[in-house]
Amino acid sequence: MLEIRNLSKTYGNGVRALDDVSLSIPKGMFGLLGPNGAGKSTLMRTIATLQSADKGSIDFDGIDVLKNPRALRRQLGYLPQDFGVYPRMSARAMLNHLAVLKGISNARDRKRVVEGLLEQTNLAKVAGKSVASYSGGMRQRFGIAQALIGDPKLIIVDEPTAGLDPEERNRFHNLLSEIGENVVVILSTHIVEDVSDLCPQMAIMNQGQIKALGAPAELVSAL
Ligand code: ADP
Ligand code: ADP
Repeated sequence: MLEIRNLSKTYGNGVRALDDVSLSIPKGMFGLLGPNGAGKSTLMRTIATLQSADKGSIDFDGIDVLKNPRALRRQLGYLPQDFGVYPRMSARAMLNHLAVLKGISNARDRKRVVEGLLEQTNLAKVAGKSVASYSGGMRQRFGIAQALIGDPKLIIVDEPTAGLDPEERNRFHNLLSEIGENVVVILSTHIVEDVSDLCPQMAIMNQGQIKALGAPAELVSAL
């Protein structure tokens, strides 16, 4: 369970990106829907401990996230919106490298984790190719694979389907829907179908505020 309380953030240029945001996010897939500029990425980056807030608190399963970012990072898998650095390394080599950084020190364990993730994301056949050569859909699936290393309990995916064609988006939806129910998955998006297809619970964000909270069937019809 993720508890966000009275979170506010004003950037140096005076933009109030988060305006007293309070939100309880249960286990399972949760959708954060809003137009560009709503504050979604600011909220995602703040939860992911990559950015400071001016005010408020975030609690994840008893971890005070803003006070103890390292503890949260051990539980976190993050696919940022601008996941844009595509290494010349192969997907397999890159995942192996990231698994080392995540502390999976035993080579056999690492191999099991990496090959499992390559299968899960349907990249096993192209795992020897450089990630830089991948299509948009393949890159996003690689992005999910890297986010899932080390069994995170909190997974944040920020605008993961922007720019994907319908077939790739569908494949991505299937992949997300297979992530365990015992973790919190936050999917930030401006695409209604992402939340209506995948998320039992959602919030609508605009102008730095949470405007509505509930099931997509109740909220999306009102849009
Ligand atoms: P903070 O208040 O967190 O220090 P800043 O206002 O100093 O944030 O901006 C941080 C960085 O983000 C700067 O490098 C800035 O150029 C960049 N930035 C500024 N405006 C925007 C914007 N509208 N969208 C994305 N990045 C921006
Ligand atoms: P979203 O992810 O919903 O598109 P963002 O969190 O990226 O929203 O942006 C919210 C608002 O904050 C926008 O007005 C954006 O221009 C501004 N903003 C985002 N990042 C920065 C930054 N680093 N510095 C200054 N302004 C920013």
